[in-house]
Amino acid sequence: MARSFTTTLPKGAAEVKSLGVIGAGQMGLGIALVAAQKAEVPVLLVDNSQASLDKGLRFADKLLDKDVAKERLTREAADIVRGRITATLKLDDLSAVDFVIEAVPEIPELKTSIFSKLAEIAPKHAILATNTSSISITKIAAATTTDPKDLQAASRVVSTHFMNPVPVQKGVEIISGLQTSRQTLETAVAFVKRMGKIPAVSADSPGFLANRILMPYINEAIICLETGVGGREDIDSIMKYGTNVPMGPLTLADFIGLDTCLAIMNVLHQETGDSKYRPAGLLKKMVDAGWMGKKSGKGFYDY
Ligand code: NAD
Repeated sequence: MARSFTTTLPKGAAEVKSLGVIGAGQMGLGIALVAAQKAEVPVLLVDNSQASLDKGLRFADKLLDKDVAKERLTREAADIVRGRITATLKLDDLSAVDFVIEAVPEIPELKTSIFSKLAEIAPKHAILATNTSSISITKIAAATTTDPKDLQAASRVVSTHFMNPVPVQKGVEIISGLQTSRQTLETAVAFVKRMGKIPAVSADSPGFLANRILMPYINEAIICLETGVGGREDIDSIMKYGTNVPMGPLTLADFIGLDTCLAIMNVLHQETGDSKYRPAGLLKKMVDAGWMGKKSGKGFYDY
């Protein structure tokens, strides 16, 4: 049974005084900003592209300016938050942080190579977290060593799966791999709470909790469209107004990105071998057509 920490305050958590975030994209930037603002820690943002760092920091400025304009923050407080975030192109600069969160693209070899380097670079007490949507935490942890009996770094690997957009969504999945120590899990839970988020603990299983439940729901909505059970607006309307969710499943799929939805369905299908997770044919065809949803201007709706 999964260990639940949602209602009790963890006791064995280590103190976190600084954070490193790898990847300044939509997730990494959001994580860096919320950590700087809510947990009040200095954040070192690492990316291998100067253009991504510049874009990410401009976006942070924009979000903070919006908070000031709406009087959610004073100018002085916003400047203090922004001053906590520094940027670098060098992974090696993560040699003095207590907690690292990796948010690079969802490519297994990229993540495992980064964790293998982190085992060398990061301090020996640092928590090494990933924001992966679907890759096994156990596999990522295994990449920290060539000796499976050596748990020095592997026991510090955990997932902190933030949801998009990070400043808005409160829920964060905390997933432990086979090697993850209890102190690592407790430190991750405590830190996510310091960031003002609500952690939910799940086991390392394909799709974890959120996507295991959400993606088959979206996939089923696509099958209903494909097989003529309902039209686009009717499917979205009955779920939105009948189950009180903020948007219908087809609109949500467009927002998430149809390529992402397909990738997660493929992981669920391949890892479990269960035909109930077979991706909808229409989903595959739309991705083949380049109709990725909102980000490409065309999905179930036009943008
Ligand atoms: P993104 O493409 O917006 O950002 C990725 C960033 O990583 C880019 O800035 C890129 O330059 C940088 N990067 C690439 N290779 C790197 C390297 N070797 N070293 C350092 N930086 C590197 O991606 P995203 O949407 O922020 O997703 C990041 C992770 O979060 C993925 O694992 C994704 O599955 C997960 N996730 C995404 C969402 C979502 O809705 N987008 C939600 C939950 C989890």
